Amino acid sequence: ESGVSLVKSGTLSVCTQLPYKPFEFQQGSDVVGFDISLMDELAKQLGVKVAVVQTPFEGIQSGQALNTKQCDIAAAGMTITDARKKVIGFSDPYFDATQALLVKKGGAKTLDDLAGKTIGVQQGTTGEIYTKKNAPKNANIRVFEDLGLLTTAVKTGQVDAAVQDNGPLLDYAKTNTDTEVTAEFDTGEQYGFGVSKNGGDKLKDAADKMLSEVKDDGTYDSLYKKWFGQ
Ligand code: GLN
Repeated sequence: ESGVSLVKSGTLSVCTQLPYKPFEFQQGSDVVGFDISLMDELAKQLGVKVAVVQTPFEGIQSGQALNTKQCDIAAAGMTITDARKKVIGFSDPYFDATQALLVKKGGAKTLDDLAGKTIGVQQGTTGEIYTKKNAPKNANIRVFEDLGLLTTAVKTGQVDAAVQDNGPLLDYAKTNTDTEVTAEFDTGEQYGFGVSKNGGDKLKDAADKMLSEVKDDGTYDSLYKKWFGQ
């Protein structure tokens, strides 16, 4: 008996924003990906089923989705930050990430190359914060609502570059060979699953237990190979 109480009994409700391949994305009528596979492991341990609740990332990272009980847990490639720790209870870290630069092939190689140019970022992300802090003062920063709109903006030339996490951008460039990742900025981020600060402690403990078990028994590595292909 885990003692975990869920918003909807028998269901682990998971807030996430799509698309965020390979962490969470639509495949046919299913939502799949690395985060979702880990949530399946957690649900298995709790003896319940996963239900994905599509939620704008802005409301996930602000704690709003968790605090208004739209879901039990957030699995959204979400970086653990000091600001977010004030409003979200985080699991142990489960993935290392860094900000990266996506351009059309032959485009900018550094943020400084983007002086006077347009840079796309995603609303509410660490990439938005990093870019606002580090881009040339005369760069024009455009904010998009999700990764799909952001990467399409690079492909169609609406922006000269996008800053987002390395995992999804490298994945995108692999299948969109007219684009490339030209830089990684070494921001030293770590992803965590988020729970409510108000009553989510037992679920955080269950998530930490799941993470340590999948790391010990090889499940984490095989899921990594499955979704990152190496
Ligand atoms: N890891 C980044 C952040 O937490 C981006 C997450 C996302 O876009 N889903 O802000």
